[in-house]
Amino acid sequence: MRNLSKGNCYICGDVIGKRAMKRHLLEKHAEYVGSGAERCYLIRAEGAEAPNYWIYFDIALDKKLSSLDNFLRNIWLECCGHLSEFSTPADILGKGRIIAELDVGEIFYHRYDFGTTTELKLVVESETTRPKQRGAIRLLARNIPPEHSCLKCGKKADYINAATVYDEEPAYYCKECTEMLMDDTEDGPAEFYPLLITNSPRCGECGYEGEFDRYEYTAPLADDIKAPARSKNKNA
Ligand SMILES: [Zn+2]
Ligand SMILES: [Zn+2]
Ligand SMILES: [Zn+2]
Repeated sequence: MRNLSKGNCYICGDVIGKRAMKRHLLEKHAEYVGSGAERCYLIRAEGAEAPNYWIYFDIALDKKLSSLDNFLRNIWLECCGHLSEFSTPADILGKGRIIAELDVGEIFYHRYDFGTTTELKLVVESETTRPKQRGAIRLLARNIPPEHSCLKCGKKADYINAATVYDEEPAYYCKECTEMLMDDTEDGPAEFYPLLITNSPRCGECGYEGEFDRYEYTAPLADDIKAPARSKNKNA
């Protein structure tokens, strides 16, 4: 079983723990997250109930919370167009608020779907800068997807039985066993609602199958994310 709290730095590919990632980004990659004209916040988001799902990203200070809402829906949440809201422990934050209204060190929350709610906790880790870019948000790091074993055969699982998502030990199945169980109404689980396993705190909830999740880690992305031009006398 892989260590769930570790993730990939999307700039260099290193595998690093959740908390140590902040320093890694700020210190090792100062040329990506600490130079340029656009002022940003570096933010960490994680599942409030499922903190092993986490990301770091930067977002320009002049963007609105609505941009952040779109990003969180795309990477982790969107299933049926449910309502969502941001809040602090004291207040609801309207989506028209701009990012600069948050403070460094502030903790705030995002809730998606007021029926089967997925709650995210967000921390403003640092103020940074980056070269100006069109997108509001750059994904900088993400947890390595957890792996689960099929309850029937032990192979790598592809589906979660959504009926068990809140159980202490949710039931996961590989594709073959899922297909067998779909056909076998006698010996299968009493309630069987297979959903694709996703790398998201919404895994197994409502109808979430990650269709919009375009952020899977493949290889170091330093050349893909909008990096500043390499300095000519770079000290490697
Ligand atoms: Zn790195
Ligand atoms: Zn839904
Ligand atoms: Zn199986």
